[in-house]
Amino acid sequence: MKKPLLILLLGFIMAAGSFAQSSYYFPGESFDSSIPSPEEFLGYPIGEWHTRYDLIVRYYEKLAEVSDLAELKTIGYTHEHRPKIILTIASSAHLGNLEEIRLAQLQLADPSQPKPDVSAMPSIMHLGYGVHGNEPSSAEAAMLSAYWLLASQSELAQNLRKNAVVHFDPTVNPDGRDRHSLWANSNKGFPPVADPLDREHNEAWPGGRTNHYWFDLNRDWLPLAHPESQVKIAWYHDWYPNVTTDFHEMGTDGTYFFEPTKPYGSENPVVPRKNYDDINVRFAKYFAEYLDEIGSLYWTKEVFDNSYPGYGSTYPDIQGGLGLVFEQASSRGHLQSSQRGDISFAFTIRNHVRSSIATMEAGLDNREYMHDYLREFFQTAVSEGAKDPAKNYVFGDQFDPSRNSLFVKFLMDHKIKVYENNADLSVGGYDFKAGKSWIVPTSQPQYRMVRTMFEDVKEFADSVFYDASAWTMARAYGMPFASNASDKTGDLLTEVPTQTYDFPTGKAYAYLIDWSDYYAPKMLFDLQEAGVHVEVINRPFTSKTQDGETKFSAGTLIIPSGFQKLETAELKDVLDKLAKKNKQKIYATTSGMNLEGIDLGSNLVGAVTIPKVIMVVGDGVSSYEAGEIWYLLDGQVGMPISKVNSDDMGRVNLFDYTTLILPSGNYNSFSENFQNHLKDWISRGGTVISMKSASLWLNEKEIIKEELVETEVAPEPESLPYAVQRDFEGAKSVGGSIYMAALDLTHPIAYGYQRETLPVYRNSSIFFKPSKDKYLTPIRYTENPLLGGYISDSNLEKLGQSASVIISPVGRGRVINFFDNPNFRGAWFGTNKLFLNAIFFGAIMD
Ligand SMILES: [Zn+2]
Repeated sequence: MKKPLLILLLGFIMAAGSFAQSSYYFPGESFDSSIPSPEEFLGYPIGEWHTRYDLIVRYYEKLAEVSDLAELKTIGYTHEHRPKIILTIASSAHLGNLEEIRLAQLQLADPSQPKPDVSAMPSIMHLGYGVHGNEPSSAEAAMLSAYWLLASQSELAQNLRKNAVVHFDPTVNPDGRDRHSLWANSNKGFPPVADPLDREHNEAWPGGRTNHYWFDLNRDWLPLAHPESQVKIAWYHDWYPNVTTDFHEMGTDGTYFFEPTKPYGSENPVVPRKNYDDINVRFAKYFAEYLDEIGSLYWTKEVFDNSYPGYGSTYPDIQGGLGLVFEQASSRGHLQSSQRGDISFAFTIRNHVRSSIATMEAGLDNREYMHDYLREFFQTAVSEGAKDPAKNYVFGDQFDPSRNSLFVKFLMDHKIKVYENNADLSVGGYDFKAGKSWIVPTSQPQYRMVRTMFEDVKEFADSVFYDASAWTMARAYGMPFASNASDKTGDLLTEVPTQTYDFPTGKAYAYLIDWSDYYAPKMLFDLQEAGVHVEVINRPFTSKTQDGETKFSAGTLIIPSGFQKLETAELKDVLDKLAKKNKQKIYATTSGMNLEGIDLGSNLVGAVTIPKVIMVVGDGVSSYEAGEIWYLLDGQVGMPISKVNSDDMGRVNLFDYTTLILPSGNYNSFSENFQNHLKDWISRGGTVISMKSASLWLNEKEIIKEELVETEVAPEPESLPYAVQRDFEGAKSVGGSIYMAALDLTHPIAYGYQRETLPVYRNSSIFFKPSKDKYLTPIRYTENPLLGGYISDSNLEKLGQSASVIISPVGRGRVINFFDNPNFRGAWFGTNKLFLNAIFFGAIMD
């Protein structure tokens, strides 16, 4: 008899708890008691802890288990193998019919098919949370919002369950989420400490904002560098949601932000005006009403940028839906003092719950309107694309099959239609070869993404950028392209083209591998790991191979058969296997006597040593740049790299390494002792790869001796209104723009490049003059270098007098200075090789 009493009592306490919590988040609402609230499931009220991601997943699993109205799907995994999930909530009739509903939505988005009857179609909503791991209120709101939709007895919730299909993505960035949750929970005090200086509110480097490789996933919807975004975009194009949310946090002293964003200045030029002028206004009324009701302060139309297509709130705007960004002042921890008193975690969660419900209500009220808009969006894409003077784009790099494949796959991931090109074309200063180039017509449903990929934008309504002001992806891939090429296309591609090569038969004096292919560095590293002795030839030559007379460029790899530890058969085996894995062509030659140019045993041919790379990370270092380098070496080369905290550098013996990487950062924490060791190591042959501000530090310490550009800046007005300060000063920074650089193709940093010009990405205003040594500035800018993005006139003038890459000799070693970012956002496939050349061939760069 005692037992049931206890259960009864416990039941009462839990119900009372959930009542207390419901009255805070959902005043006056009643809930279906068969659905557990987050508090009942977790054992603590939402807001008391930062909920671990595995528990969020388990709560959603529980909802799917107890309710016929919820279904859970795993769509992929993060780098750290956390599942990426979508919880779909809808009536059981709709859930039973989900595939038909999805296909109807796809039909609606396809103007070549008859328009389905939208009056019968449920609204498709996609509530996404937690792209920034240390903006934690939103993932807690995701649990409460799903609970509300599933269990609330309100008329609104019932209508939503009947007339909408709502997809919840509770955490876009689970790896970052857990990094931050662990920090906040393990530093929580009892009672909580509101002092902003307390450790709980100040995470250790690199913080939880980013994913495993320290990338901002709220920039990755366009580049798709990471699995979190790759699976998300694939899922997105399966559904074309009418509404997508993206919840964030901002500074603790702020209030709350919802769209509309700043008119014109922060809007994307390819998005139809209707999105900004009409739809955003319709939705904003709901957000205001929901926040007015609880007395929360908020603002709109200022600051937040909505132009870069890689934002979670902008990409949907380019896909016929409505993307919405919300920003909540952060408690960053469980309780933090602000100018308005102490902000609790629960308070921040509640505002996001309100916006979630407001979004669903607005989406429901505008159900047919949003469906009509989706249709109209893709219809006008086709008709506007037909009027675009560009007509079509042809692209392709005849020298780099792997990069071609990567770019074609990238376009196809964004559902752009790509066609084969069956004719040799000479257009826009490039030669496009039949079978090695492709055509993208502008008149197609994804016309607006076509513009995003190929159009250079140089005119802006504003001069202050929160982020990048250029994102032409064909430039990032270093892809030769031209418009108005040819109306004649071959077949529509349904698969990404790849290439296979036969291994040369017969005896080989040496094997040769061209360095132009994107994966040639990976091939080289794999060969070195397999114990193959590899050399590089530093001049062009012509040799007789299985293809007959074959021309090779400087930078070609040579594997001399006579200098291998492996037996002949074993060597062939390894070469064949690795060539197939990395899609590389192996040439065989039977003689060292070349037909033209230097011979294979020339003094201008030398062994390539296996790089042993160390990179400084931690306090003072740009985690973005360090993460980009780490991901490049892991993902594209498969090379281990030692990441050493700046504090630990004093313990390092640099003579154990070939290459030291200094990402942008402040290195003042390096002791005098270590600086001396660094100088000694470089001067005895070490290679430093230094990025932007790291070069400023090296120059200040006189480890390198380069000069900065000092230009007469146009005199500034003596006095300006206080209120214009932000705009005036903001216009001076280089937020992120694209320039044409000129390469010295004979320099090892340019090995693998066949054209003298290459687009580069710059996001700093550090301008160094070219080297005083006339041979050591291998990458400069062209005469009129601006390809796309915003830059002030005075910065453009400075840029013209500066260099992109300088080699600074130090004794027998050197510092390779990069002033642009060759690895930006894991998307700059066109310039990655410059950086990899610095790693593999740094030792021969002076
Ligand atoms: Zn954020």
